[in-house]
Order: sequence, then C-alpha cells, then structure tokens
Amino acid sequence: MIITLKDGSSLEFNEPKSIIEIATAISEGLARMACAGEIDGEVKDLRTIITDDCNLTILTANDPEGLKVIRHTCSHVMAEAVKRLFPDAKVTIGPAIEDGFYYDFDHAPFSREDLDAIEAEMKKIIKEGHEITRFTLPREEAIKLMKEKDEPFKVELIEDLPEGSEISFYDQGGFVDLCAGPHLMSTKGIKAFKLISSSMAYWRGDEKKARLQRIYGSAFAKKEELNAYLEHLEDIKRRDHNRLGREMDIFTTVDVIGQGLPLFMPKGTKIIQKMQRWIEDLEDYEWGYVRTRTPLMAKSNLYKLSDHWFHYKDGMFVLNDDLMSDADAHEDQKLYNDPDVAMKNAQEHVYMDDKGREVMALRPMTCPFQYFVYKAKQHSYRDLPYRMGETSTLFRNEDSGEMHGLTRVRQFTISEGHLICTPEQIADEFKNCVKLAKHCLTTLGLQDEVTYRMSKWDPKNPDKYLGTAAEWDVVQDNMRKILDEIGLEYTEADGEAAFYGPKLDIQAKNVYGKEDTMITVQLDMFLAERYDMYYIDANGDKKRPYIIHRTSMGCYERTLAWLIEHYAGNLPTWLCPEQVRILPISDKFLDYAESVRKELRKANVDVTVDTRSEKIGYKIREARLDRVPYMLIVGEQEQADGKVSVRSRYLGDEGQKPLSEFVDAIVKEIATKEIKEIKVESNNEK
Ligand SMILES: [Zn+2]
Ligand SMILES: [Zn+2]
Repeated sequence: MIITLKDGSSLEFNEPKSIIEIATAISEGLARMACAGEIDGEVKDLRTIITDDCNLTILTANDPEGLKVIRHTCSHVMAEAVKRLFPDAKVTIGPAIEDGFYYDFDHAPFSREDLDAIEAEMKKIIKEGHEITRFTLPREEAIKLMKEKDEPFKVELIEDLPEGSEISFYDQGGFVDLCAGPHLMSTKGIKAFKLISSSMAYWRGDEKKARLQRIYGSAFAKKEELNAYLEHLEDIKRRDHNRLGREMDIFTTVDVIGQGLPLFMPKGTKIIQKMQRWIEDLEDYEWGYVRTRTPLMAKSNLYKLSDHWFHYKDGMFVLNDDLMSDADAHEDQKLYNDPDVAMKNAQEHVYMDDKGREVMALRPMTCPFQYFVYKAKQHSYRDLPYRMGETSTLFRNEDSGEMHGLTRVRQFTISEGHLICTPEQIADEFKNCVKLAKHCLTTLGLQDEVTYRMSKWDPKNPDKYLGTAAEWDVVQDNMRKILDEIGLEYTEADGEAAFYGPKLDIQAKNVYGKEDTMITVQLDMFLAERYDMYYIDANGDKKRPYIIHRTSMGCYERTLAWLIEHYAGNLPTWLCPEQVRILPISDKFLDYAESVRKELRKANVDVTVDTRSEKIGYKIREARLDRVPYMLIVGEQEQADGKVSVRSRYLGDEGQKPLSEFVDAIVKEIATKEIKEIKVESNNEK
C-alpha cells in the first residue's frame, strides 16, 4: 500500500501498519511527538491499523487537532481521578473545547480544595503511565457493561445511538469509559495541565434535566505554554469590567430594579459626564452639529411608520399594548407598506388598549424623532448638510440570558446623530463621519483595537430590506468607493446591513474575545422617501435628501466598559472622576491642604483632600487602590515654600514642585486629553 504524506512524498509498505509505526518509519522524533493521525481527513488513534492506500498526516500538539487529542485525553484522566476520589460520582461527557476541556459529573458541587485533590490524583495517573486501548462491543453488551458499572448517563447515551453504529470504549489501566475517541496512546502523553474552575451545568444543556457539575481544565504540550495561558486568564480576570467596574464603584446592579439596568454610582456618573461634555462640545463646535432633545417614547404609529413595529416589536418595551387580532394586524401592516397612504395613516389612526389608552413604546432608535425635527421646518439646499446630534437614551428588550455588565444592557445612551444631505454632499459627509469616529477612538487611545467591517445586505433575503437589488448595488458601490478613498482596511459581510442601507461597523473585542460593534456609520437612500423628507433645490424644486445615521463615540456604557478593560481601570487623567487627592501629613496641615484644593478647583481639576487622621503610608496606599492618578503630599516644608510633593502613577515619586507648576501641568494634561504611559500600576490588593 502507498501512504501519501502532507508534503506530497509517499511511503510504500507491503503489509498493514499502525499509524505510530508509520510515524516511527518517518522519524523517531516525530513518533515521540505524535498525538494522532489524520487518515483522509479523519482523525484516528495512533494504534489504528492502515491497510489501504491513503493520505496520512501525523498530528502533533502543534496542530489544533493534535492538541485537542491531548486535552480530550486529559478529560478522561480527570474522570478517572474523580471516580477514584468520589466513587459515587456518575460520569457523563468530557469533550475538548476551544481553550481546553471539561467533563460533567453527577455529583455535589466541587470546591477548589476538591479540584486540587483531583489534580494531584491526575498527576498520579499520568505518572503510572497507563496504556490507553480501544475496544468495541455490540449494543446489548455495551449497555450491560455500563449498567454493571452503574453509569446511567452512559446507558442513556448508548441507547440514543442509532442502530448499527459502532460503540467504542477506552480502557486506561482498568478505568473504562464510553467514547468515540481519539486519544493518546498512554496517560504519560499529558505533560502540562491545570483544572481551572467548576460550575453547574445541565445534562444535555436542558434545564429540565439533571443538574451536573462541570469541571473546566486546560492542557498544553509544554509547561511554558500552560503558564502563559494561566497568566492570560489572570489578566482577563483583572481587567473584566463587570468585576472591576463594580469594585471601583463605577456601577452596580440591583435585583429589584432589573437585569441589564445598571445604576451608575457617583464615580461612574462623573466619568460618563466627562465623556458626554467632550462629545457634545466636539460635535457642536468643531464638526458643525446642532443638538436635539427628543422623547424617549412615542405612539405605536411612529414605529409602524418606521417598520420597527412589524419587524422588531419583540425587541421593544411596549406600553398599553393593543389587542388587535392577527388578521387586523396584517391589514394594518399593509397600509404602512404603501408609501402613498403610510404617513396619512400614521397621522390619523388611533390605536388603543382595552382601557382606551393610546398604545406607546419606549424607543429602540432615534432616527424618526430627528427626522421630524428636520421636517418641522422647510429646508433649502443652502441649509444642507443638516447635522443633528443627540445624547440619546434607547431601550431594547434583550433576553435576560444575554445581559453582561455594561456591554449588554436594556437601557443605554449613545452619541447619536443623523445627517441630512444632498446626493452631492454624501461622500464628503460620510468621510467626515468616519474621521470623527477615528478621532474619538484615538483620543480614547483605542484606535489600535478596532477592525472595520462593511456590512452589506443579504441578496438571498431581499424581503428584509427596502429597495431593489440594483439600488443596493449602487449604494454599496458608492460606499466601497468612499472607504477606498479614505484608505481604510476593511472586511465585507453579507446580511449585516440595516434594512435601509449598508453600514461601516467599527468592531472591537472584549477581554473574553467576544466581538461587538462599537461605532457605526450608515448610508441611507430610502427612508427620506418613506418619511416624505425633502429640500428645495436651486431651481425651487422639491428633492429627496440622503441620510447618514452615525455614532461618533458609540454607546456610553459599552465604551466605558471597553475603557475599563483596556486600561485595567487606570483611565487617562482627563476621564478620572478624582484626578488629584491631597494627603496632609497631619492635621496641622489641613488648612494648607484646603488652600491647595481651592487652587486646583479654580482650574477645574477634580480634587479631594484626605482629611482622616491616618498614617501617610496608609493614605498613599488607599489613593493608589482608588486609582487616583496624582497624590499631593503636604507637610511642614511644602507649606513653608508653597509647594507640593507629587506622586503619580506615571512617574512615581516626582519630588517637590511649586504648586503653580503642578497646576499648569495637570491643566495642560487634561485639556489635551493626554494619555501618559503608566509606570506605577495600581495593584489589585483590594
Ligand atoms: Zn474520550
Ligand atoms: Zn438612525
């Protein structure tokens, strides 16, 4: 038979050979590193005998599939250790997953001490070096074996296998487990592993079924790789905004208020306020926006006109819901699909609940509210582009399972905006929106963490969108041209567009690697028609404008979460709720401390005095834990010379400085929104 290897070379054998024999024939070194073999695309145990011509790849820990075999084998070793220490535990399943493996047991919850004991037992099993061998049994015998071993979950698994499927078991030194494989040849092949955590899980992911305990672990080919992974996990824990943001008193959540409804504490509120003042002034005074303030709710008529009612009602919070029958609702929708009568219907029809109250809903978007601001006056081409900005609070009825800290919430506030422009202005305005978004990202120091995605319609689902294929081709080509002119690097994704047009989505990942849209700029050629928006052109004729929907900095909650994770809580000075803390050495210097505070307040610096009669070392430590960027220590000499002793997280002990010098420096740092390199980390001792 002829075995063709990955590099295209081939080996010829006169008799059947196992994969490990073939690996040895290639090189002893390869055989030592081998985890499994891939025969014509299927991953198999190294003991598998090959009898026919095939393509064969020897997999090592450097191949994702090879590493998976190590991790999966480790899950069996864990199962054996659990059975040795807790004979009552029932085994279920134990797959390899993205960063490691897990195994689910029917048992009481495991403590960290239990996990440590299991780890120690696993090390013994690995050292004992049991060979791992595979055997198969006919269905009835397989069930009998698992019944004898009192493993009801395994019995259920076998019973669910389709008639005629091969039922394989693996034996490692007497511990037998039902499994399709593949595995390493010996428990000795596991070099570096760690049990990470345990949590509750349901049998087959079904909350009506048995509650199980899942133990997570990971394994690597080398100790160094495992250690790097564990450090990475520590770093994630350290940065996770959902933990750190609460610990820093930035936000909290309360059961009786509800999930996905974070409360900002005074510190968090101050940070959001600084962001909001920055964005509003930036948009209004530097980028030519006018500001609007529109209602947080509206009659259902508005959402029927915007189409949200028919496609997105489940995602909205509806007040005084009507009791319209499905048939009537269908007829109603038809009226709104006809642009000639939609606006008239929206203006005239009254929808009421059973108590005669108007049907309303909290808003999930701002668009139509701002359109009616535009429509309240007649505009000529000279008024355009008309750029409206709003610090807009929105509501989305997301599933409770989706809630996470500040990134998945039911109420949030975005730096919203809609630009109404002529067709000739659209390219320049779109470019400026992208420029503004990039400016915001750069100011926040987040510009290197984003990727750009052009989100297109789904040609296979044209019914989900307004307009025709030909119209979408035109607008998407326009957008591509604009993006290419800016020189953006971007990917393209089908089916991610808004129903009214394509989007540029600026994406970023959180510490857990989950990607979200942070900022978006959207082109819209269709809604002006639907809302009967127009401008008067140079000839005095009515013309349809184009619309850009955009955010500049995105959603306040989500961006703050991103900042907390990016800076591990050490926000740039300008965003800190407390920028300076004055620490008098003793009560004798409280008056001087107060005069220093007044000077800094005059310069609009957020400053406090630690007036407690505590030791200075203690006060310094507290200020550092609170992540205050500057501490000013004042005592005898500082008071005599009108100076302050500066300690910062940027340079550590900066020594004595005249107060005026410090004030000038921090005022400049705040005004320029400087991002200084942090040398003295606030640690996580808290
Ligand atoms: Zn297995
Ligand atoms: Zn919009």
